[in-house]
Amino acid sequence: MIKLILERIKYAKLEAPVYRMKNITDTKEKKFVSAFLSTRTKDEVTLEVILRIYSNYKTIWGLNKDTIQNLIKPVAFYRVKANNLYRITQKYEDIPEDLESLLTMPGVGLKVAKVFLAELGKSYIGVDTHVHRIANRIGIVQTSNPEQTDRILNEIVEDKLKPEFNTHLVALGQTICKARKVNCSICPIRDICNYNLKTYEQYKHGKAGARGPLHPQHPL
Ligand code: SF4
Repeated sequence: MIKLILERIKYAKLEAPVYRMKNITDTKEKKFVSAFLSTRTKDEVTLEVILRIYSNYKTIWGLNKDTIQNLIKPVAFYRVKANNLYRITQKYEDIPEDLESLLTMPGVGLKVAKVFLAELGKSYIGVDTHVHRIANRIGIVQTSNPEQTDRILNEIVEDKLKPEFNTHLVALGQTICKARKVNCSICPIRDICNYNLKTYEQYKHGKAGARGPLHPQHPL
């Protein structure tokens, strides 16, 4: 089921910022910095900042704190993030590739560490608000916070599917399954998603709004 969900989203070729980000973060450092900057920041903004940094500099190692701060100004909490990034460049010669070491770095939490490791192809799922929301809507989990979602997904998702899991769910969340606006009628997994199937049943029985959802099996 999870494999099918990921394949359907992947082959829908959604125009999502997360896919553009994947294309431009072609080095370990770029993957780390983009995961680091992305907290509480829209992906479009993180994308713009990554382009700005790496079109001007080959690496952030060796830059002073003010330069880093000016480069990342559009992201949320840029002062704190700049300070932490600067401390990282002072303390580490290379970015670690294991969860335990990553979590000792200034400003690196579980989500950032797991998103980064997944980007390196390791078996981790970074659970952000998109992943938490959509996994619950689909019905893969029934949880009330991202920590529970993280724990359950870690148990039920096959290791080989974990590295891609965040990317495809985030892509769906950025384009179709948004927090305040779901567009089930064009969703590639509407026939297997609990939320849509339930809404469709309610519509059939006159309990939902006049427009109602598209039939789950309706051909696009
Ligand atoms: S069918 Fe609707 S609720 Fe389910 S994943 Fe797609 S957009 Fe989200």
